[in-house]
Amino acid sequence: MSDAYGQLLDATIQHLEDLKSRGVRNVAVSPETLHALAQPVKTIPAPTQASKTGSKISMTTPSPQPAELSLALPGEAAPASTPLDPKAKAAAFAALRERALACVKCPHLASSRKNVVFGVGSIDAQLMFVGEAPGADEDEQGEPFVGRAGQLLTKIIQATGLQRADVYIGNILKCRPDTPGQSAGNRKPTSDEMATCIPYLHEQIDLIQPRVIVALGATAVEGLLGKTIGITKLRGGWKTYRGTPLMPTYHPAYLLRNQAMSEKRKVWEDMLAVMEKLGMAISEKQRNYFLKG
Ligand code: URA
Repeated sequence: MSDAYGQLLDATIQHLEDLKSRGVRNVAVSPETLHALAQPVKTIPAPTQASKTGSKISMTTPSPQPAELSLALPGEAAPASTPLDPKAKAAAFAALRERALACVKCPHLASSRKNVVFGVGSIDAQLMFVGEAPGADEDEQGEPFVGRAGQLLTKIIQATGLQRADVYIGNILKCRPDTPGQSAGNRKPTSDEMATCIPYLHEQIDLIQPRVIVALGATAVEGLLGKTIGITKLRGGWKTYRGTPLMPTYHPAYLLRNQAMSEKRKVWEDMLAVMEKLGMAISEKQRNYFLKG
């Protein structure tokens, strides 16, 4: 069974469980679907990660593959991914979004939020950025990384030759951490909030199947890998999230606080490593950004 089919199955089961929890007892299933469900599953060798394509970072053209079945759980090592049927993928992603937008698992955040900040970008992206949690601007607009740190992230993305729409941007937490009694400022998500929300991100990643993930800051690394080591030690070294290469780097908010050229250069070196991993062309100018004369 493919990882892809397993992910769709997980998304479907989750959707049905949600319906059940809302009191729905019956769902309509067409005779064609029942027939298809009764068919034996074919096993097809999964293509390698290197054969995945997406906008602007395309290297080879994958042939469409029927799905195999696999029931890998979030956090488990997943085998090389099989491309999902585009329509089924879009439908599963839309269903996931609906569930997240209606989520009230953290009642304190559900009541304080203005918007659930699900994520933004291409669901076929080869490159995915994961941040910590929405801030006030993101909560207001319902889109991740739109405030000052977000504008810097957009510049970093553009410096690679990509646009925001070419990548996918999400967060560990989909709701802004509340700050009762405070009129400004953000707080780090608690481990309970992270544990409650992370399944949505796991499902997003499972469906998008990025070839590379960039974890922005220590909280993103902690949410994805369970590591609580400082980002200064981790950044710049490849890690693996369920078989997908993951690059930890500084959060753009850190670069706003620390304007030193050396810190910008470190993030840029991490991005160069990401570009190399994706097989993207790198110009001399790009190689030399933030290097002194
Ligand atoms: N910081 C984050 O980690 N995420 C956002 O969406 C905005 C700021």
